Amino acid sequence: MDERETLDWQTFGTASRALAQAVADDGFRPDVVLCVARGGLLLAGALGYALDVKHLVMMNVLYYTGVDERLAAPVVLRPTPDGEDLAGKQVLIADDVSDTGATLRVVRDFCVQHAADVRCAVLYEKPQTTVRCEYVWRRTDRWINFPWSDEPPVVQSR
Ligand code: 5GP
Repeated sequence: MDERETLDWQTFGTASRALAQAVADDGFRPDVVLCVARGGLLLAGALGYALDVKHLVMMNVLYYTGVDERLAAPVVLRPTPDGEDLAGKQVLIADDVSDTGATLRVVRDFCVQHAADVRCAVLYEKPQTTVRCEYVWRRTDRWINFPWSDEPPVVQSR
C-alpha cells in the first residue's frame, strides 16, 4: 500500500475552490490573504482569486529539511510583512498543511498582534497539530506529496 497521500493538480483546483466556498459560506470576508511560503503560495493565489481578494502578503518560513525532518524551530525569513498593513484587517492565512502546527503558530501569533480577525485555511490537517484551522479540506496522518514539490527542480536540458 502507498504510505503517502498524493494531491494532483486537478484535485488541487477542486480543493482550493471547495475551501474558498467554505470561507464564503462561513460569512468570513478577508481583506488580506497571507500566504505561508513556499507551501501555501499556490493555495493563497487560488483563494485570492476565488474570494476576490486582491491584497496578498507573504511570510516565508523555513522549517522542514526533508520528509518528517525539521529544524529545531521554524525560521521566519526577511522581509516579514509590515504589521501596520494588517492593522484592523480580516486576515486569512493560507498554507498547504498544518502538520505539527509550529509554522502556523508563528504566523498566526504575528498576525493576531495586528489584525482584527485571523483565520487559517489549509488543504490538509494532521491529527497531531497544535493549531486547529478554521477551514480544512482533508485530514490525514500520512506524508503528503504536493504537485508543486513532487518532482525535482528542472535543470538545463541543452
Ligand atoms: P508544520 O509546521 O505544521 O509541522 O509544517 C509546516 C510546513 O511543513 C508545511 O507548510 C509544509 O511546507 C511542510 N510539511 C509538513 N508536513 C508535510 C507533508 O506531509 N508533506 C509535505 N510535502 N510538506 C509538509
